Amino acid sequence: MLRSAVWGICLPTLLAISTPFAQAERAQIQSQTSTKLVLPTNFAGCDASQTSQLRQAFKDAALLASKAVNFDINLYASMEFFGAPAYVHGGNHTIIQNNFARAAAYQPRWDDWLRNSYLNLTCNDFAGRCGSTAFAYHVDPEPKPYPVLNFCPLFFEQRSFEGAVEYAMADRERSYDLRSYDNNQGMIFLHEILHIDAVGQPKITDIMETTCEGREYGPALGPLRCKYLAFFNERNNVAETVRNADSYVQFAMTMYVQERIGYPHKPVIWEPEEENTVFVEQV
Ligand SMILES: [Zn+2]
Repeated sequence: MLRSAVWGICLPTLLAISTPFAQAERAQIQSQTSTKLVLPTNFAGCDASQTSQLRQAFKDAALLASKAVNFDINLYASMEFFGAPAYVHGGNHTIIQNNFARAAAYQPRWDDWLRNSYLNLTCNDFAGRCGSTAFAYHVDPEPKPYPVLNFCPLFFEQRSFEGAVEYAMADRERSYDLRSYDNNQGMIFLHEILHIDAVGQPKITDIMETTCEGREYGPALGPLRCKYLAFFNERNNVAETVRNADSYVQFAMTMYVQERIGYPHKPVIWEPEEENTVFVEQV
């Protein structure tokens, strides 16, 4: 994980805002490159139901990525999740566009080595990284035959993509809040695809956010933290969002919801007032 640039201003309210979602955010998605692993066979350790859920999640991840391929820096979602157009233009724009294109091309083709889209999916925690808080992890073995994504028990406790959309859209208030859709199986699958070396270039990781005192706050996961990462990315003109997996996932989910019902504006973040701000009444 990479540390984000030290924030220029303090946000003491951030902890309070994120509290209701702390449980989900603690369930960090792990990613690591490893060597000397004995790779399991596809769907090792997955029962019939899990295999079926994974096949569906792969399709949903491809659908989500397809909603983001026409990436445009002037979209409001781009500003919210990657930063202001003034900082995302040029090289960063191309990086984001190419990463979405590669993720969208990663279609569920289970035996297609030729197109470099073969995936080995497992449920047996072969690298021992699930613990009690991880949804999934990815391994890009060296030398590479193909990447492996392992899905942990916690993944199978999450809503399917379709289930999450149904849940969120059953209530008007909920439907415009990205947190209602977060951590569905399609989003988690897309998150893992973005970590694959052949997809995320340069390497896409989970950026660690820090407070203004330099204290580690946690990885930029979920819509709120991703929006803050983009906000400070803009401030510092540091393109961290282009290397953060969940920024892509939240953007793609936003595009999907926008197409269905209009722009999901929540959670809303705001710019804190500068200290010693003097307000002059206009009469
Ligand atoms: Zn991750």
